[in-house]
Amino acid sequence: MVGAGVIGLACAATLARRGHSVIVLESADGVGRETTARNSEVIHAGIYYPPGSLKAALCVQGRQLLYQRCRLHGIGHRRTGKLIVATAEDEVERLENIASNARSNGAGAIEIFDAAKVRALEPRVQAFAAVWSPETGIVDSHGLTLSYQAELEAHGGSIAFRTSVVAAQTTHAGWKLETQDGTELETSHVINAAGLHGAEVARLAGLQYTMHYCKGDYFSVAPSLGKLTEHLVYPVPVQAGLGIHITMDLGGRYRLGPDTEYIDELHYQVDPDKAERFAAAARRYLPEIKASDLAPDFAGIRPKLQGPDQGFHDFVIAEESSNGAPGWINLLGIESPGLTASEAIAMRVVDLLR
Ligand SMILES: Cc1cc2nc3c(=O)[nH]c(=O)nc-3n(C[C@H](O)[C@H](O)[C@H](O)COP(=O)(O)OP(=O)(O)OC[C@H]3O[C@@H](n4cnc5c(N)ncnc54)[C@H](O)[C@@H]3O)c2cc1C
Repeated sequence: MVGAGVIGLACAATLARRGHSVIVLESADGVGRETTARNSEVIHAGIYYPPGSLKAALCVQGRQLLYQRCRLHGIGHRRTGKLIVATAEDEVERLENIASNARSNGAGAIEIFDAAKVRALEPRVQAFAAVWSPETGIVDSHGLTLSYQAELEAHGGSIAFRTSVVAAQTTHAGWKLETQDGTELETSHVINAAGLHGAEVARLAGLQYTMHYCKGDYFSVAPSLGKLTEHLVYPVPVQAGLGIHITMDLGGRYRLGPDTEYIDELHYQVDPDKAERFAAAARRYLPEIKASDLAPDFAGIRPKLQGPDQGFHDFVIAEESSNGAPGWINLLGIESPGLTASEAIAMRVVDLLR
């Protein structure tokens, strides 16, 4: 396994539990240090993705598995529910499409609320109408990652930290991987869960994929504004992301974001000058937000297989025999809802190994 983010560890734990011998190679000195530590921590219900896509199916299956895992392992989480709000009259009809897509995906008991019902639920939110998703929630992503690590280790698997895979070659029995210090490791299967570096790692096996980086910045909201919302509140979605939404973490701190910005080089700086733009986006449904209430928080980067202005692209979960790399499994483009879908993705990988 290459990569000890939530996806690599979910796969590693699931395989180890089924009796496979698993070692995870990880460049960083701990688990979940990249995208797994830089996201909204939302348990998605499965609302937006095209019916029949992997994103839709694995989000719905993964969400159920995730709530179950949280209960069983004592991982911090809350089924907050979420509103997708129409902030202009002409957005109201789009809510019908969103609700119908969500129902086709099995996203739970989706309803449409009128303005009065939204106001009763969220007095500080202004909206013409909203989609209500009771199955959406939030999770402690670090706790989730640690639960997979503990399960992996309890079943005899291990993680080699500060260990980057730099070369790969086929052998009669599978693959030989080389790490940055020249160590070689032989294995029957390689699972590439290297997140933002997934295309580079795939290239080591001669497999060509193009990865685009799409950065999302977050701003924290001043605690002096008090309890702004009881639930997560999203606008109707924009093309590359879900629109600047307000979420809270388990400690009750609110943040706005993420936006979408395609970048060429990986970096995590949040531009403080974006505060006015974030405030303006949020004011469409939370009229009292001002730029002075916002402070740059953190950024995450989506490992996208589609570039700007390209349409939907599904997760790639592929055993690469047909591309001349038998025993090599690529997990690529695992952007949102990857956290939610993690255990369902792992079960797909188990199926590919059968
Ligand atoms: C802005 C943003 C918001 C999101 N919000 C949500 C959300 O609310 N809900 C949700 O379900 N999902 C969300 N996601 C998606 C979710 O965060 C990701 O799908 C998930 O974290 C991906 O995990 P990963 O293990 O694939 O990648 P990572 O966490 O990036 O792990 C990859 C690991 O591979 C290691 N690695 C890379 N190259 C090598 C190498 N050559 N050798 C060894 N190790 C290597 C890296 O060090 C890293 O630790 C969001 C993502 C972003 C960017």
